[in-house]
Amino acid sequence: MNELDPNSMLAPLEGDVVAVMVGVAVSTPYSYRVPPGMAVRRGSIVAVPLGPRLTLGVVWGAPRDMVAHNRLKDIARLYETPPLSEELLRFVDWVSNYTLAPPGMVLRSVLRSTEALEPERPITAYRLSGHEPERMTDARLRVLYTLADGLAWAKPAIIGASGVSASVVDGLVRAGALEKIELPPPPAVEPPDPDANGASLSPDQAAALAQIRQLETDRFGVALLDGVTGGGKTEVFFEAVADTLRAGRQALIMLPEIALTHTFLERFTRRFGTRPAEWHSDMTPVQRARVWRGILKGEVRAVVGARSSLFLPFRELGLVVLDEEHDGAYKQSDGVNYHARDMAVVRANLAGARVVLSSATPSVESRNNADQGRYRHVVLTSRFAEATLPDITALDMRTDGPAKGEWIAPQLARQIFSTLERGEQALLFLNRRGYAPVTLCRACGHQYQCPDCDAWLVEHRFRGVLMCHHCGREQRIPDSCGKCGAEDTLVPVGPGIERIAEEAAARFPDARRVILSSDMGTNSQLKSRFSEIERGEYDLIIGTQLVAKGHHFDKLTLVGVVDADIGLAHGDPRAAEKTFQILTQVAGRAGRSVRHGRAFLQTYHPEHPVMRAMVTGDREAFYRHELQSRQAGGLPPFGRLAALIVSANEHDAAMGYSRHLLSVAPMAEGVRLFGPADAPVAMVRGRHRVRLLAQGPKGLDLSGYMRFWLEQAQRPTGNLKVQVDIDPMSF
Ligand code: ADP
Ligand code: ZN
Repeated sequence: MNELDPNSMLAPLEGDVVAVMVGVAVSTPYSYRVPPGMAVRRGSIVAVPLGPRLTLGVVWGAPRDMVAHNRLKDIARLYETPPLSEELLRFVDWVSNYTLAPPGMVLRSVLRSTEALEPERPITAYRLSGHEPERMTDARLRVLYTLADGLAWAKPAIIGASGVSASVVDGLVRAGALEKIELPPPPAVEPPDPDANGASLSPDQAAALAQIRQLETDRFGVALLDGVTGGGKTEVFFEAVADTLRAGRQALIMLPEIALTHTFLERFTRRFGTRPAEWHSDMTPVQRARVWRGILKGEVRAVVGARSSLFLPFRELGLVVLDEEHDGAYKQSDGVNYHARDMAVVRANLAGARVVLSSATPSVESRNNADQGRYRHVVLTSRFAEATLPDITALDMRTDGPAKGEWIAPQLARQIFSTLERGEQALLFLNRRGYAPVTLCRACGHQYQCPDCDAWLVEHRFRGVLMCHHCGREQRIPDSCGKCGAEDTLVPVGPGIERIAEEAAARFPDARRVILSSDMGTNSQLKSRFSEIERGEYDLIIGTQLVAKGHHFDKLTLVGVVDADIGLAHGDPRAAEKTFQILTQVAGRAGRSVRHGRAFLQTYHPEHPVMRAMVTGDREAFYRHELQSRQAGGLPPFGRLAALIVSANEHDAAMGYSRHLLSVAPMAEGVRLFGPADAPVAMVRGRHRVRLLAQGPKGLDLSGYMRFWLEQAQRPTGNLKVQVDIDPMSF
């Protein structure tokens, strides 16, 4: 249990002065008076006057500065919720210190649900009073029939069931025929039962679990659950969740793309007998409030959430699981720039909790931590039950490529035909949305570019628009060239997923086809597509990385990667790692059940270490090669990086301020500076972006260095903005 450290608790003194951290971008707490009769302590959630408004804040401790009592304002309100845990307050400080985001801004990530602080509202419901109304109408009669069961119903339910308007219900209340009662609000979720439906683990899984169990439940420790796709990692970490629940502590499972994981929620429900509490952007304020409050009160015992769930007010956190720990979606790069994997390890350390990082393709950082013995390396080498890993073949596009104007090589097409003939499913994968990445005018060579970003406009033919993938700007596909005016001269260059779908329609007209890409429907539409695929309602799936992760389609035995080289073209040193991960994930969709699977990678570089590791299945060779080249370059995990992104409306202004920054950069041993240069994405939403990069040795306090550096500089003025990104993901 995480009781508050008594030394840091404030005696509930009246008329005292305390420091309150407000949930806005401030770097220090402010002093406030505690009004008579109010008892606060460290962690208490309060509302305080800040400028003209009341702002949410948290009592941080004793005041730092001596301000005359009579100049201070009173705390306006103390909320009745339990205070935040000491562990969470320290976590806020830690994240702030590491990322250079002001602590108030980090605290705002904690105080996400203001509704949760208000007392829970009871539900108003109506039932029959026993008195007949004097005047009876058809509508009134329908309501009375609906309520004839004698139970109390909420108003929307009555309206829905009897097809009347709200005024009919109100009229019946006034007429004395219905009585209004208040029902207590339902609990956020039923507590999960650790012993509901435990799977019987295979010997491999049992061995993996035993290794995880060697991390004590009441101590910090990290396990890297490194198991092939379809190895049954989920069942293994579910047992670690069960252990945590039995030990009376809370468990958090983080997923990279929560919105599309209904199958995951179903698996949790089957295992623990009840749905988990969820936490992601796709929730209503009322749902959020319930979950947030339930966690703070300790009623919610297990949460499945996106990266922001890391800032939930757990009181007794005992386990954090990161599924697909290598996934880039764990990096937040808006507001507070943090990596949820690294910060999860920090939070678990403060909470004395265990961490399980799960992946078939661990990040190079985590692999290195496991190799160095900092993390326990738990390996699952074979697939669950009869399932086997797919055979992977590289198709050399230089010699065996498709005919001109086509994108599917003859050999892959033959494989698709025979897969479909056997009544199995095939997947065509291309990690590029839209119809074509570039659109140009055949007459004058004009290429359509976003006016606000450094990016081509991408044709989305199904929707009839050209779209910028950076800012989302759209325009209708024009009939004539915007530059030379020639008509019907626009041509697509290169393939996007829609173009592959078009080719598939022409070549496999009898197959039941479905195209899946994040821009092709709402979340709930996409969810239904996934259920339909699981039920075998499609033969040929054509999709982007949306289909690469986590899904389990029983009948899927063939995967064709249209362009396996896509990610390698970037100058990004993580390009090889990212490509290896996405190819392994997508190939891993094949043959996850009894039927054997195969994957074909169309590539111009069959000799590249990534392709070789894919084909031979020798992942160790890949990690060795990758770690060596990172070490040679002083790149993570052997060296550290931090970026300053300077943005402005004018390129000159961004560049000028960057040069100023460079001129005041402090000298430090082992630190090398690069730039200023245009950032990898040099313009976004009309703002020019220039980057400075600092590279330092592993042991260096790079956050401290960056803070000191910025303190030497003049403050940015006008529309200049500086963002700090510690451990940037692309560099
Ligand atoms: P991973 O997460 O490692 O890719 P999963 O956990 O999704 O693998 O497991 C792959 C498949 O095997 C799933 O359909 C899962 O339900 C099944 N499975 C795994 N372990 C067990 C078990 N112990 N008992 C029954 N089915 C299992
Ligand atoms: Zn744009």
